Amino acid sequence: MPIYEYVCADCGEEFTKLQKMGGEAAVCPKCGSGNVARKISACAIGGASGGTGGSGRGGG
Ligand SMILES: [Zn+2]
Repeated sequence: MPIYEYVCADCGEEFTKLQKMGGEAAVCPKCGSGNVARKISACAIGGASGGTGGSGRGGG
């Protein structure tokens, strides 16, 4: 599941929260304020670079 970053507008605390289906409003875990804004974060899934199996030889 995707993780969204939030930043509190009151204390400036940054935290992450898992976005669930029909989730509840995010609140600051530090001060408990609901005045938080979601940050735009590019969450990349995976990262394994593709590689051809077998022995790789350079053309020559
Ligand atoms: Zn806060």
